[in-house]
Amino acid sequence: MKSMNSCCFKGCSIRSNELLVYIDDGKNLYALCPLHLPFYLEKNEQYQDYLIPATSQRCPMPCVLCLEKDNTQHFTTYEHNKKIDTSFCSHHLQKMLTHQLSLSESTFLREQFGQFFEISEEFYD
Ligand SMILES: [Zn+2]
Ligand SMILES: [Zn+2]
Repeated sequence: MKSMNSCCFKGCSIRSNELLVYIDDGKNLYALCPLHLPFYLEKNEQYQDYLIPATSQRCPMPCVLCLEKDNTQHFTTYEHNKKIDTSFCSHHLQKMLTHQLSLSESTFLREQFGQFFEISEEFYD
């Protein structure tokens, strides 16, 4: 059983809240380090066996960007001990994690939550 605050990729021992993002899809809770986040995003069956999620702790909420209610996922990260906690649809979660949000979307998130790594200015200059 993996502890909640280490990366859920089998054998990965990264356990810093500053490095991990938490994605809760209403069934499973994934803690992911930057190295293993792509394995989650790609949904590559070959790698799914390596991801060992914890049990979901959340009920789905609408996407903060488009208010979509279906297939949303909680997203939690920490920036200088400040907790950023919100929800995204699959489309916007993917866009944010791959740094492809529109300027208005990234600006909106920055206004709501302050700066955090996934929307840092270097990706959106
Ligand atoms: Zn990892
Ligand atoms: Zn959305």
